[in-house]
Amino acid sequence: MSQVLDLRLEGEVGAEHAARRFLEELGVSCDTEGTRATPRRMAAAYAALLTAPPFELTTFPNDELYDELVVVRSIPVQSLCEHHFLPFTGVAHVGYVPGERILGLSKFARVVEMFARRPQVQERLTQQVAGWLDTHLSPRGVGVVIEAEHLCMTLRGVQAVGTTTSTSSVRGLLRERPQTRAEFFACIRD
Ligand code: ZN
Repeated sequence: MSQVLDLRLEGEVGAEHAARRFLEELGVSCDTEGTRATPRRMAAAYAALLTAPPFELTTFPNDELYDELVVVRSIPVQSLCEHHFLPFTGVAHVGYVPGERILGLSKFARVVEMFARRPQVQERLTQQVAGWLDTHLSPRGVGVVIEAEHLCMTLRGVQAVGTTTSTSSVRGLLRERPQTRAEFFACIRD
């Protein structure tokens, strides 16, 4: 068993005790058959939401000199709002115009997940994904749009069920060249 895994499991035991205390302080009994293991499941669920599986960055040379927009749509987003520690979920659309390197298409979801599995705000998540792609691929342009529903907004407070929040980060050609920008936003609309 790796040391990293040991540390995480150790943390989960402490988190389980804290979850039990947290629930009890709120008047929730953890003594019924259904709730006995709830603190453990809570700790494991939050640990999972805060742990991104490692991935290998596979980039390839852009041998075909592809210079049009590549758009990957509807990548699932599951993250935790750092203000309330409730989930926000939705989709990310990522587009880029390659430079010298291209990224394996399945890796875009990994990049989104890497930044989503931590306490977040949607604005920062959007910028981090765009920034990471910009740094690692040096594309001619990159754009990220995230549309998500925040449980902290739809379950409490104004209880605006069904409200989604949209954020975007565009760089390079997608920011500067109106045609490319328009093509990207048209592409993710349908
Ligand atoms: Zn919130």
